[in-house]
Amino acid sequence: MIDLIADLHTHTLVSGHAYNTIREMAFSAQEKGLKILGISEHAPGIPGTVHPIYYANLYVVPREIYGVKLLHSCEINVLNDGTLSLEDKYINHLDYAIIGIHGLCYTDAGADGNTKNLIACMQNPKVAFISHPDDDNTPLNYKMLIEAAKKYDVALEINNSSFIKQHKRLNCVENYKTILGLCMEYNVNVVVSSDAHEASHLAEWNYAMELIKDMNFNEELILNNDIDKINKHILKASSYKL
Ligand SMILES: [Zn+2]
Ligand SMILES: [Zn+2]
Repeated sequence: MIDLIADLHTHTLVSGHAYNTIREMAFSAQEKGLKILGISEHAPGIPGTVHPIYYANLYVVPREIYGVKLLHSCEINVLNDGTLSLEDKYINHLDYAIIGIHGLCYTDAGADGNTKNLIACMQNPKVAFISHPDDDNTPLNYKMLIEAAKKYDVALEINNSSFIKQHKRLNCVENYKTILGLCMEYNVNVVVSSDAHEASHLAEWNYAMELIKDMNFNEELILNNDIDKINKHILKASSYKL
């Protein structure tokens, strides 16, 4: 099994329900042997998260702390009208965007409706992957989603924290089996993430990697195990490259 070098979906205390600073996260990343840390705060729509002016000032943060390269992202909410919860003027400051459905600011529109809203948002060129597309509280049409992911060069996330909170993310393991099967069939990329909200959980992806191994998933399709793939697909619309 190839080692993962980057955790690309993580939160610091400015998300409002996470508990560490950027430096604490970078320190933990270094301890865990990560080369790259992507920090992706929640966008407006999640109670208590940071004002978007935060993203416009990220250039003051060093690109490398404790020997770990930092990438700036945001986990942006997909809204019921098929738009994103962060304006383009802020998205422009990100290295890449993650998009996802969160029940705190979304009402289930049925599998086809939810999928169409995600696909509408995927067309923003900064969108690199879809967070936790695994929850039958807001079901998805996976065939439709993965065909669009192929078209727009967007990856699907295998979110390790979903395996831990299966009481909240309905049917997520079965859904990940479907996703991994279709990603192999259509040659669509995936990103494996911790979605850590506390530094000790960085690089925790044991459950996700176990399923990937069990399914004999093609490791070539995992993006966060190779700098060239990260440059090409995660930073596809970014002026910054690793
Ligand atoms: Zn999320
Ligand atoms: Zn998250």
